[in-house]
Amino acid sequence: MKHNNNHIREKEQFKKLFKQEHIDNFEERFKVFEVFLQTERHVTVSELLELLNENGYQLELSFVRDTLELMCRFGFAKKIQFEDGPVRYEHRHLGRHHDHMICTKCRNIIEFEDQRLENLQIQIAAAHGFHMLQHKMEIYGICSNCLKTRMHPMSLVMAKQGERLIIKDFTGGAGARMRLLTMGLRVGDELDVITSPGKGQMVIAVDCRRYVIGRGLAQKVLVEPREKSIYVVKRNEGRSDRSN
Ligand SMILES: [Zn+2]
Ligand SMILES: [Zn+2]
Ligand SMILES: [Zn+2]
Repeated sequence: MKHNNNHIREKEQFKKLFKQEHIDNFEERFKVFEVFLQTERHVTVSELLELLNENGYQLELSFVRDTLELMCRFGFAKKIQFEDGPVRYEHRHLGRHHDHMICTKCRNIIEFEDQRLENLQIQIAAAHGFHMLQHKMEIYGICSNCLKTRMHPMSLVMAKQGERLIIKDFTGGAGARMRLLTMGLRVGDELDVITSPGKGQMVIAVDCRRYVIGRGLAQKVLVEPREKSIYVVKRNEGRSDRSN
């Protein structure tokens, strides 16, 4: 999140701590930190290396990774990993907290904070006699940009995990149609996308019954969102960045 006024203070503390702890290669590490502060994105080690190169600094990948790890250790950076994505790093500004929404289509990351949600989590934990120290909230879905470019109806193969859809039609030849019917799928069936790994088979559920369906066949199933209202795009107030 953007807290640029913090960055001056962050640099001062970085200098103080890294010198006090006699961390080697101070000048180079400080360059890494400065460039890291320039971006508000959630960067991978290689993305940060690229930014360093753009700024005219030639450093080793392992050195950049090592520096990021030190930054995490001293509380200047935070390591995050969304689902099975790569390890990313973001600023860690003391006293500030935010959560993330991750678009499963374009991997766009949107940051948000909501005090009601924060309080609710503390209350829920307390109701279990649990003392909450920290939490991670990650919401996976489809961002407003990706929603805009979606065609309706669309092919089932485009659907993402968690989508609730209705079968509108079968395309393709009689053979494919017959295979789908034999599987037990019908036009008008309401389905949930259980897994959709982006390659290979996907798993859908109709009436809580799982169906494994190859991508070729899924291509021939036309679907539409079940609850269209939830797809109405609201104004996006969160800051976002595009990764991957
Ligand atoms: Zn920042
Ligand atoms: Zn998106
Ligand atoms: Zn973030």
